[in-house]
Amino acid sequence: MSYAVTLIPGDGIGPELAEATKGVLEATGIGFDWDVQQAGEATIASEGTPLPERVIDSIRRNGVAIKGPITTPVGSGFRSVNVGLRQALELYANVRPARSMQGVETRYRNVDLIIVRENTEDLYAGIEHRVGNDAAESIKIITRFASQRIARYAFEYAVRNGRHKVTAVHKANIMKLSDGLFLESCAQVAAEYEGRIGFEDRIVDNMCMQLVQKPELYDVLVLPNLYGDIVSDLAAGLVGGLGVAPGANIGEKAAVFEPVHGSAPKYAGQNKANPTALILSAALMLRHLDETPAADAVEEAVRSVIAEGRTTTYDLGGSAGTREFGEAVASRVRGSV
Ligand code: NAD
Repeated sequence: MSYAVTLIPGDGIGPELAEATKGVLEATGIGFDWDVQQAGEATIASEGTPLPERVIDSIRRNGVAIKGPITTPVGSGFRSVNVGLRQALELYANVRPARSMQGVETRYRNVDLIIVRENTEDLYAGIEHRVGNDAAESIKIITRFASQRIARYAFEYAVRNGRHKVTAVHKANIMKLSDGLFLESCAQVAAEYEGRIGFEDRIVDNMCMQLVQKPELYDVLVLPNLYGDIVSDLAAGLVGGLGVAPGANIGEKAAVFEPVHGSAPKYAGQNKANPTALILSAALMLRHLDETPAADAVEEAVRSVIAEGRTTTYDLGGSAGTREFGEAVASRVRGSV
C-alpha cells in the first residue's frame, strides 16, 4: 500500500526543504508515490501562471499535498498561489500549532497553542480596487456560514485532541457588523459544546499583548483570516521562529500541508534554512492519513535531534545544513519504526 501525494517543492528555500522532508517521510517505511508539481516563479515564465490548473487537479486527485513556500511577487498582476490554492480547493481551515520545544531557546517554556484560522474570506477575498488615483478599497467579507464552519472545526479539533478551551479573536468593538457576525457565529457554535469545551473571546490587539505576556493561559484560538495570519506568526515567534512552525490547510475533499514561513529568497540554494517546519507539516499529514505511529515517530525524532543540539540549523544556534539536519531526523526515524 502506498499513498499518492502531490509534492510542490515551491520557490526559494522550498526545494531544499522538500528534499529533506521527503527523506524523513520515506524513513518511516510507508510507501509514497510522489506526484511532483512545479508551481510559482518557474511556471510564470514557462506556463504564464504561477498556479497551473494541473497542480489543482493533482491535489484533487490525490486528496493530500505537501507544499513548500511560494514567492508572491509584490504588486505584480499575479495573485498569491497560496491564497489561490486555498480558495480553489475550499481549504477552509488553516491549522497552525505552536508548541515549545526543548533545545529551542525562547522566552517561554510552556507554550502549547493551536491557531485555527479561517482561510477563505475576510480581506483575503481579493475584492480590491482603486478609487481614482489616490485611494484604494479592499472589501472584508465575513459570512455566518464560513464563521460557523471554522468555529465548529476549532471545537471539534478541541474535542478530538483533548483540549479544553476555544478563544475567539476579533475586533468587534470597531467592526461591529463583520467581526460582530464572526463573534456571534462562534458563540452560537460554542453553545453546542457547553460543559465540554470552554469558550471566551478576546479583542485582537489585547490578544497579542496577552500572548506575549502569558501565552500559557491560551489553548485553541479561532480567528478570521487576516488576524489568523498575523497572530500565527506571533505564535511562531513565541516557540522559536518561523523555521519551526508547521501548518495544515484542511478542506472537505483535500488537505495541503505547508509551513507558516515563506520562501526566504536570501537563503535559497545555500543548504542553510531549517526544514523543521516542513517536516512537522508532513507529520501533520501523517496524522491526517491516520498514520499516527509514523507521525509520532517523526515528531519525536525532530524533538530529540533539536534537544540534543548537535545537528541544528543556524536559526537554532547551530551550524548544520538543511540536508544534514534532515538526514539526522531521518536516521532517528529509521531507528524507531
Ligand atoms: P519568509 O518567511 O520567507 O522569511 C522571513 C525570514 O524568516 C527569513 O528571512 C529568515 O530569516 C526566516 N526564515 C523563514 N523561514 C525559515 C526557515 N525555514 N529556516 C530559517 N529561517 C527562516 O517571509 P518573507 O521574506 O516575508 O517572504 C518571502 C516570500 O515568501 C514572499 O514572496 C512571500 O509572499 C512568500 N510567502 C509565502 C508563503 C507560503 O508559500 N505559504 C508564506 C509566507 C510568505
